[in-house]
Amino acid sequence: MRYSKSFIYTLKEEQKEATIVSHNLLLRGGFIVKLASGIYNYLPLGLRVIRKVSQIVREEMDRAGAIEILMAAIQPAELWKESGRWHEYGKELLRIKDRGDRDFVFGPTHEEVVTDIVRRYIKGYKQLPINLYQIQTKFRDELRPRFGLMRGREFIMKDAYSFDKDEEGMDVSYDKMREAYNNIFRRCGLNFRSVEADTGSIGGKDSEEFMVLSQTGEDEIVVCDSCDFASNVERATSVVEDEPGEEFELKKVATPAKETIKDVCEFLNADPRYSAKALVYKNDEGDYFCFFVEGDDELNLIKAKRVTGSVELEMVSDEELKNLGLEKGYIGPVNFPNKDVRVICDERITKRNNLVVGANEYGFHLTGAKFGRDFDCEVADLRVVKEGEICPKCGKGRLKKMRGIEVGHIFKLGQKYSKAMNAVFLDENGRAIPFYMGCYGIGIGRTAQAAVEQNHDEYGIIWPISIAPFEIEIVSLDTRNEQLRDYCDDLYNKMLNGGLDVLYDDRDERAGVKLNDMDLIGIPIRVIVGKKSFEDGMAEVSLRRDRKKEQVRLENVIDKVKELRDRLYKELEEVRR
Ligand code: ATP
Ligand code: MG
Repeated sequence: MRYSKSFIYTLKEEQKEATIVSHNLLLRGGFIVKLASGIYNYLPLGLRVIRKVSQIVREEMDRAGAIEILMAAIQPAELWKESGRWHEYGKELLRIKDRGDRDFVFGPTHEEVVTDIVRRYIKGYKQLPINLYQIQTKFRDELRPRFGLMRGREFIMKDAYSFDKDEEGMDVSYDKMREAYNNIFRRCGLNFRSVEADTGSIGGKDSEEFMVLSQTGEDEIVVCDSCDFASNVERATSVVEDEPGEEFELKKVATPAKETIKDVCEFLNADPRYSAKALVYKNDEGDYFCFFVEGDDELNLIKAKRVTGSVELEMVSDEELKNLGLEKGYIGPVNFPNKDVRVICDERITKRNNLVVGANEYGFHLTGAKFGRDFDCEVADLRVVKEGEICPKCGKGRLKKMRGIEVGHIFKLGQKYSKAMNAVFLDENGRAIPFYMGCYGIGIGRTAQAAVEQNHDEYGIIWPISIAPFEIEIVSLDTRNEQLRDYCDDLYNKMLNGGLDVLYDDRDERAGVKLNDMDLIGIPIRVIVGKKSFEDGMAEVSLRRDRKKEQVRLENVIDKVKELRDRLYKELEEVRR
């Protein structure tokens, strides 16, 4: 493509709406432009990147045996009522009405629609397994749209759905998708990890997220420093180290005006790890819970939701605490005062022989409290793991925390949707069985932007070659010099005819402007033709990533470019770690 005939407009200024580098660079490079909060237009460069990512995804899905379809973006509410998600999905679901006042949604995901398609056509076990996928625009009315394409309200997703006749089949389909995902993100040039993920309210069997490692990622993950264990913090556990401590008698002590567990422990000269702090929450159904975790632990809300089967958990106000008969700052598990509040203790607490706990009376705590002897309650894993704790998988390594951008998610759904929507097939014995399903998503825009977040420098983007808007850029630094221009035109045409993916900056602009744009846009292989070297029969060839220039004879430029291109693709065959 000739730059002068294209629609590429770069911006010099930092973009105020961007808080992370990749967002800023995509705006400045003229890849995307904002239309409304979380809603973006893709300009030619952005669209080319989106198409390249989509193509890699498509190739790997096809290779794994999935079949491409395109489902409608607008979905009737009836299907969502059938699955039960019309109410469950909440405010993220964009609901719309047609002129006849009938309810529809703009699809945030397509489990319902695909299940409806499959139940129409698949009647017997011999037609299984089947895996249908699409690449399509989704809409989710996110609470906090931000970071450009990373968390948009309108965004492009690849979603695949597998249907099997039994659990073993579902496991096989899932494994195929996992392999395809590894290929996809490797081919996109990303440094990523797959991590165990929370299965949320669906409560399915297995779920993994694919995380692009990045400081600015919204997700926190833990990895083991000696085995391959990796998990989202949302569900990570660690080995409970055996440190019961000495056993004492239960004693009531005055702790006047010490309301935080930290203050209390300081005052009593106690280790906060030998104390229990109370956290009182209410769920969406109006049930109350009191969670106890160690004094210096953090309650893991995702785990708390799972244990209690809650969709939402909200901390209760001081006012509500009073109404429940609970004394703020002094709540403890011994003789817990309210039977209607479900009390759940983190596992670690129950392994301690002595604990500082609230006495359920203003100004007093208990010391020496012990689970099983002084109090009893439900026990569960409720805490956020900490760095340095022991790996639950190998039992030896230590856990390390990192941040990641979730670009893909694979999930064993089991029969949740097929049961709810009565989507069944006849098995070998003529019995009607609900399908065993899996669902598999990839954010196309998020993946593209994650690549920028991971690959840039102070001058701009450094695209991995596989998803770059173009693989090669020719920059002519002197468009008024006829010979030079003729050479560049000819080089460009030869490259085009040879099937190379090339952008030709033929604009009548200053050299500095063109070179800056070239670095900003980040095309991986560059051919710069300037007056001086041209007179010596040379052009400068360089890679965007190190910007090191090499003088190449004019007649050898195409061979050199091809060699670099092959090298860059070859590198993508190796997994980055
Ligand atoms: P998140 O926790 O980030 O909200 P999710 O669990 O809601 O993600 P899924 O429903 O599993 O996401 O969607 C599949 C994929 O779609 C995600 O892995 C992500 O890459 C992408 N995705 C989800 N929400 C958005 C969004 N608001 N903007 C861009 N991409 C998104
Ligand atoms: Mg989400």
